[in-house]
Amino acid sequence: MSTSGSPRRAVVVGAGMVGLSTAWFLRRAGLDVTVLEQDHVAAGSSWGNAGWLTPPITTPLPEPAILRSGVRALVSPASPLYVPLRPDLGLLRFLLGFVRHSTGRSWRRAMSAYVPLNRRALEAFDVLAAGGVAEPTVPTGDFLACYRRPGQRRDLLEEFAAIRAAGQPVDAELLDGAQLRALAPALSPAVTAGIRLSGTRFIDPPRYMLALADAVVAAGVELREGVRVLAVDGGTDTRPALVRTRPTRPVPGGSETEAPPARRDGEEILPADVVVLATGAWLGELARPFGVRMVVQAGRGYSFSIPVDPMPSMPLYFPTQRVACTPLGGRYRVAGMMEFRRPGDPLDPRRITAIVDAVRPLLAGDLDDRADEWVGSRPVTPDGLPLIGPTRAPRVVAAGGHGMWGITLGPLTGQLVADLVTRGEVPAELWSFDPLR
Ligand SMILES: Cc1cc2nc3c(=O)[nH]c(=O)nc-3n(C[C@H](O)[C@H](O)[C@H](O)COP(=O)(O)OP(=O)(O)OC[C@H]3O[C@@H](n4cnc5c(N)ncnc54)[C@H](O)[C@@H]3O)c2cc1C
Repeated sequence: MSTSGSPRRAVVVGAGMVGLSTAWFLRRAGLDVTVLEQDHVAAGSSWGNAGWLTPPITTPLPEPAILRSGVRALVSPASPLYVPLRPDLGLLRFLLGFVRHSTGRSWRRAMSAYVPLNRRALEAFDVLAAGGVAEPTVPTGDFLACYRRPGQRRDLLEEFAAIRAAGQPVDAELLDGAQLRALAPALSPAVTAGIRLSGTRFIDPPRYMLALADAVVAAGVELREGVRVLAVDGGTDTRPALVRTRPTRPVPGGSETEAPPARRDGEEILPADVVVLATGAWLGELARPFGVRMVVQAGRGYSFSIPVDPMPSMPLYFPTQRVACTPLGGRYRVAGMMEFRRPGDPLDPRRITAIVDAVRPLLAGDLDDRADEWVGSRPVTPDGLPLIGPTRAPRVVAAGGHGMWGITLGPLTGQLVADLVTRGEVPAELWSFDPLR
């Protein structure tokens, strides 16, 4: 970033994991920070996700195996990947780019960019904890990937070998069905093979996001929910950026965070020395005028919670079904699906049914006693890399596009963006994520 003087006032757009983490680290660096959120804290993808903090398996999404399941998806409505048959132009561009990057070579290049982030990802959570985020991250003794047949482990084991070849350690052990059930008795006898992975943690996403928001506010950040950013004028080296906003609907059940009536219909313009766009699957809308041409496609996932008895103390992963499960309080969250549609489209109950049907033979939970049914949009890029760094406008920074891994990498992203803003140069860890690529 090359603007005259050090920035004093920042506006962060979006109160998901990336936006709130960025706000926290910018505030810690001494900036006056305002967060603007069109809806409420974690209204996007940061609420109903699986909450895994899994740097050992945080890898780029486009790869040859996902392409194979993508082709199957076109013929099977129950596939964990759903692509509408009549795609729009943006989706077509995304799919073509995604297919182009689904090669071993492209994956290796992208993986080498992830390795330095993965190395530091969990430390960033520890910095937040030391700085007052009250909700803990839970170390996972036994993160278990579970399969019906031993041969189905091949794809993941090959991926582990490729991850290690990229310089990232993966500590994994093969288990049989009995060993798996000794650790997680709720697994059904249909599960006969698995992999135990070390070095991961998990969070309860709703609780963590609310705790992060509390810590951000306690640190002195102004957090304004129900305020939509309509457009950003990037300013110049000597003139501040201008953020044009309009209040949206009141926040459900959150009268204390509602926009005051006087501001409801009125637009406002906020000046800022730096504007960070952390708008998840909506990133393109505000970032495109600043030279960010890469499509950020909504990869919609679904989740719900069920009672499981006995309740597993660890996350379970069913890789063949692409379903992720996490203990949250007294219930078990079950998450999955990758549906390439618009972020605002309504929840499609058929996707929930597909997850239920996939999990029912494998887990002894009551899949008919579902609560918290949810859909949210992963911000997915065609090359599997996030977009983090300066844009064409010197005062506008993009921070998004983390796809499957915005929870794991959100806090570190915030830390690195704050370094970029305060030091005026892009940290080496971010060089591969240039939003203008
Ligand atoms: C089913 C599922 C499971 C997942 N599991 C995991 C997991 O286990 N681990 C992991 O690391 N990741 C996981 N993810 C991915 C993770 O949820 C996302 O990568 C992450 O939440 C993205 O965070 P974000 O802050 O970039 O975006 P979001 O959380 O989507 O936040 C963006 C915010 O910007 C706001 N916004 C948008 N436009 C505007 C505007 N113009 N003005 C004001 N506000 C605006 C939105 O309302 C939203 O609140 C999962 C995702 C899904 C769907």
